[in-house]
Amino acid sequence: MTTYDWNKLSDKDKKNLAALKKVTFIAGPVLMGTKRIDQILTNLSDSAVLFGCLKDEWIPGLEGFLQFAPLKVEKLNKLKSREAEKLAVLNHFQKDLKYIIRELKPKIVVFINGSWFQQIHYRKEFWEAVNIAAKIRLETPFTSEYEAKRFAKKIEAIYEAEKLYSKSKKYSDKEIFQILEKKRRHSWDWCGQPTAALVRNGRILALTHNRVMPYQAFQMHEGSIREKLQVPAQEMIETHLTNHAEVEMLEVARRGKIRLENTSLYMNIFPCPVCAKMLARTPIKRIVYEQDHNLGNTIGYKVLEASGVKIRRVVA
Ligand SMILES: [Zn+2]
Repeated sequence: MTTYDWNKLSDKDKKNLAALKKVTFIAGPVLMGTKRIDQILTNLSDSAVLFGCLKDEWIPGLEGFLQFAPLKVEKLNKLKSREAEKLAVLNHFQKDLKYIIRELKPKIVVFINGSWFQQIHYRKEFWEAVNIAAKIRLETPFTSEYEAKRFAKKIEAIYEAEKLYSKSKKYSDKEIFQILEKKRRHSWDWCGQPTAALVRNGRILALTHNRVMPYQAFQMHEGSIREKLQVPAQEMIETHLTNHAEVEMLEVARRGKIRLENTSLYMNIFPCPVCAKMLARTPIKRIVYEQDHNLGNTIGYKVLEASGVKIRRVVA
């Protein structure tokens, strides 16, 4: 198995790599089991396969997200099957993907779900692959739904053991937003990570994030509907596979018998129109948020303010 480092390759070496006719390029994916790697390699044609491995410690934008940890070259060294023979490895930073695709002009580019921040059709490497008329494939990192569920369970257990806040402590607004930022890592939606904290007199009562339905690794396994439809950022159609953080919050409060009277809801992103209308029907009387929602705040503001909810934006 030959290993290359994109940042150390000369122009001549890059030309030689590009000369690998009909190369298939697997763009720096998340961690996968060797069985799944073998499966992907078997499913590909017999052409040369260049396997990208990220030099970034984490996927940029998804730092600390255990569910989206990048696959490292050591994992490929463990491949025992004959599929490994047709493999060459390319170590690279994710920011270089667009240049790699532009220069090597692979015939097929394989993207593994959960290997990038935001949405694939917002990203330069995707459009670079479109520009060179490569065949683009979006694949699951799992061999089966069973494996996806088992993986989700394992990671969830680690997150559940994390203590992001203490129930007895009083927090400042700034500290609450720092906790919301840490909570982002618990989201399995690489497209966006809204988080919410229910607060009374500076004490955090509950903390939630957007939860992928029907199980956390579902979108990784089945793919993102937004990406499949290439939904534009300003589109009002609800295509997220998640229960929004606000919906999760009402459910957590209901189950934990937490009263909503005299509480504030802190959010890293302003509620979407649907959640805003829902929150207007609850006793929550104050919303503190950091970023605007990409669908705009107009509808939400109108409904919430008309229901007597006080809204405040905090600039980080
Ligand atoms: Zn919502």
